[in-house]
Amino acid sequence: MTRLVMKFGGSLLASRHGIRRVGDIVERAHSRGNEVVVVVSALGDLTDSLLQAANDARGWSEGEISEAIDGLRRTHLHAIDQTSLRRDEKTAALRGIESSLEKLRETLLGISMLKELSPRSRDLVVSFGESMSAPIVSSEIMSRGIDSSSLTGGEAGIVTDEAFGEAVPIHAATRRATRRRLLPILSKGEVPVVAGFIAKSRNGETTTLGRGGSDYTATILASSIDANEVWIWTDVDGILTADPRVVGGPATVRRLSYAEAEELAFFGAKNMHPLALGPARLAGIPVRIKNGFRPNFPGTLITREQTKSRGIVKAVAVVRNVGLLTVAGETLQGRPGMAARVFATLASSRVNVLMISQSVSEANISMIVRRSSLRSAEKALKRELKNQGVAVDVDPAVSVVAAVGAGMRGEKGVAAKIFGAIASRGINVRMIAQGSSELNVSFVVDEGDAEEAVRALHSHVVDHVRRS
Ligand code: ADP
Ligand code: ASP
Ligand code: MG
Repeated sequence: MTRLVMKFGGSLLASRHGIRRVGDIVERAHSRGNEVVVVVSALGDLTDSLLQAANDARGWSEGEISEAIDGLRRTHLHAIDQTSLRRDEKTAALRGIESSLEKLRETLLGISMLKELSPRSRDLVVSFGESMSAPIVSSEIMSRGIDSSSLTGGEAGIVTDEAFGEAVPIHAATRRATRRRLLPILSKGEVPVVAGFIAKSRNGETTTLGRGGSDYTATILASSIDANEVWIWTDVDGILTADPRVVGGPATVRRLSYAEAEELAFFGAKNMHPLALGPARLAGIPVRIKNGFRPNFPGTLITREQTKSRGIVKAVAVVRNVGLLTVAGETLQGRPGMAARVFATLASSRVNVLMISQSVSEANISMIVRRSSLRSAEKALKRELKNQGVAVDVDPAVSVVAAVGAGMRGEKGVAAKIFGAIASRGINVRMIAQGSSELNVSFVVDEGDAEEAVRALHSHVVDHVRRS
């Protein structure tokens, strides 16, 4: 028997007859004798709307809160309407949504009364997305004569610390609790439907794992219950050679190693949580990325195996919303400890550095940080390096473009091909870095050039030949 964890993304769930489609996929897997754990995202981009509502609620009146609640009701009503539930089952599903919406209304009212939004209450608000979609999917599965129950991530046993917004799972506690909760359900032949993205702290508070966190929920559960495979169902044919919204007709990358896929996730391909592949890699569980609209297409298979492809670069991705920070000055030269001081300053201001480069002359250090922390990074460095003959410069309008593929390792001429392609479009490269793993070459360009850079790399460098 095969134990599968199947995660269904918000884009698929919110598509026309999306939940029926999910029902078809689960029914087929279950009827073949597999044990199936389902993980779901919130419908469509509901998490964005909930985040917005949480922020705006500080200044909202009761009427404005009701309007937001009405919008959420319509979204779920529309989804329920397209399921294969009978009329009475639809009414029951809607009652469940009403009771969640009532709790959400109370939470938003609390925020509007206090005019204050804590990270804790923000997590509580966004958790409603997944906790409303899971029961609908569970009802769809039941309507096909398969026993099913829905659980929040916390109920399923995912235990985290209290870093609201980006909570970190506590491995041993999660393994114990998820096995205790899920294994008895599976042994009865039932299909548990788990709300992705959300979890519980040890004190029982609702936490979330960070954006794109449902993929992470799936791999955490899979490793905890020793699943054989994770299938991530989305709305495109797997991991593609580039973002389909930027490049026309990208191909599917059929095979990736965990390391390659983690690089791509980090660089934002398929909006996956950057840590989502970790639990699968550690446990050696294969992950498939599949298209819910074309269930028979194999999609992408991610395993330990590192395959070299003829074209060397397998895919191109972009990180947006970053800024470039440069510390420059002759006093940086030949003075041991200056780099340490720069990074210690950033660390104490809780600024995460995504990319670093320093020239041999040591006259400057360039760094890429998230745009949201650019200003605090600049302030902290200016304070620390005052009167040291060092200039701190920022450029908020840049993007990082990355070419990813294990085949670059030890291969000569890859950089020449990449930068030749970029130069041929007249794009200026601001900064370059290559990880010592040689899995990616990344470089910084002006934000306005990022899409053109991706298109240039895709047409000149990415492997279109290998399709196996
Ligand atoms: P889901 O709702 O299934 O989690 P997301 O919307 O989070 O899906 O991510 C899937 C989307 O990511 C695709 O629809 C696609 O437009 C976009 N995307 C960007 N780059 C890539 C890539 N390299 N491969 C696949 N999808 C990509
Ligand atoms: N709904 C959450 C998000 O949009 C988690 C996910 O979809 O993976 O980030
Ligand atoms: Mg997603």
